[in-house]
Amino acid sequence: MALMTKEAYLSSLRKLDHRVFIQGERVENVPDHPISRPPAMALAEIYQQAGQEDMKPLFTAQSHLTGETINRFTHIQQSVEDLTKKILMLREMGRKTACCFQRCAGLDCMNTVYAITYDMDQELGTRYHNRFVDFMKYIQSNDLVPAACMTDTKGDRSLPPSEQEDPDQYMHIVGEKNGGIIVRGAKLHITGAVNSHELIVVPTRALREEDAEYAVSFAVPADTKGVTFIYGRQPSDTRRLEDGRSDVGNLYYGGCEAMVAFDDVFVPEERVFMKGEYPMAGRLVELFAAHHRASYGGCKVGVGDVLIGATAAIAEAHGTEKASHIKDKIAEMIHLNETLHAGALASTGKGFPTPSGAYAVDPLLANVCKLNITRFPFEISRLAQDITGGILVTMPSLKDQENPEIGPYMKKYLGGVKGVDSEKRIRILRLIENITLGTGAVSYLTESIHGAGSPQAQKIMITRLADIESAKACAYKLCGV
Ligand code: SF4
Ligand code: FE
Repeated sequence: MALMTKEAYLSSLRKLDHRVFIQGERVENVPDHPISRPPAMALAEIYQQAGQEDMKPLFTAQSHLTGETINRFTHIQQSVEDLTKKILMLREMGRKTACCFQRCAGLDCMNTVYAITYDMDQELGTRYHNRFVDFMKYIQSNDLVPAACMTDTKGDRSLPPSEQEDPDQYMHIVGEKNGGIIVRGAKLHITGAVNSHELIVVPTRALREEDAEYAVSFAVPADTKGVTFIYGRQPSDTRRLEDGRSDVGNLYYGGCEAMVAFDDVFVPEERVFMKGEYPMAGRLVELFAAHHRASYGGCKVGVGDVLIGATAAIAEAHGTEKASHIKDKIAEMIHLNETLHAGALASTGKGFPTPSGAYAVDPLLANVCKLNITRFPFEISRLAQDITGGILVTMPSLKDQENPEIGPYMKKYLGGVKGVDSEKRIRILRLIENITLGTGAVSYLTESIHGAGSPQAQKIMITRLADIESAKACAYKLCGV
């Protein structure tokens, strides 16, 4: 079974016996809880797409490991075309869900660990790569979702892992027994964690010799003993608890993150992919960052498409769509959105094979893409809110419209141009509210700043990767110095 159906995925989540808490209460079935259902449905939509004939060229690939047709979200990229198709697939998913659909962090992590375990074996004489290949075959053949668990809690940010007062502020090895290791720590902001079958843990930063016990990478099933998920809150998430869900804006989908605690978790040796090889940690982080920073030029652009569409629709509903300043603002939104996409596609166009054969994106362009992502969705959102007018944040609930006493006022006074009744107008505005202020803003705005690394991390990489010396040489030559 190399391709799972959407229904099989959702029932596999229900069968998973992982310890998930939402607002202080244990949740047995993640896809059935009103708050966590939309994120599960967003991820499930990937399975739906991969099963559709017209989407197969984009959403499936041929595994170089098993020869089977697999979901592209489990594929180790073998060419520039693979890198590019991933970005196009992510844009398509962003357009379908208008949120973070969560499966790409794991994909980017698998591509990273695949390449780094190969390098490690070549350079340090370890034997991790074949283990990871076995893990990949298992993931691909069963079409599973592994979450990428990277960000540590970090404690005192001015101190390295080994100098923290509490040594558990970074994931570390605390013991060894019966052919495996025992690990402790917690990973934060883990995208799609509660919707994942497996967890791949990797270091969060470059490490020194003193930090060797923190140089650890492994994979465990999500329902492993000692693993606990604490669900992240989002603005307006409890609107999902209201009847009819008329005010949620995005009726079907959402993104989700969770804190994942590892309390003395046993990892069998065959699932360990790094154990003390501290010089490789920084390289792993940089490769993952490049992959995932490019990914944002797919997913966020797809969400941007939805926001631009909703904004154009509301301008029509208001009868302002022909005003020159509205046309100009929408053109500006499109320009910004396509600039983000261009950065991602440029990074894949200049992609190259790593020694393992897995392809990597151009890291400078991927970082440039992501630095733009930390800014442009905010500007696109500002323009959208400019065009909506203040009604975006002052309109009553659609529930008010159902009340026979006050509903007539809403119908009379909150409609738009002829043919646009108050409900249609409010629904479009609620979607814009969701993306720019509500649960959707977690995916579209704050995640755009901090996901895949905060802006300063991109600045550091851009400075390091740019060839300033050769640029200086060009300048010297031309001015005769
Ligand atoms: Fe995928 Fe985008 Fe979510 Fe990252 S932020 S997991 S690239 S949808
Ligand atoms: Fe993300």
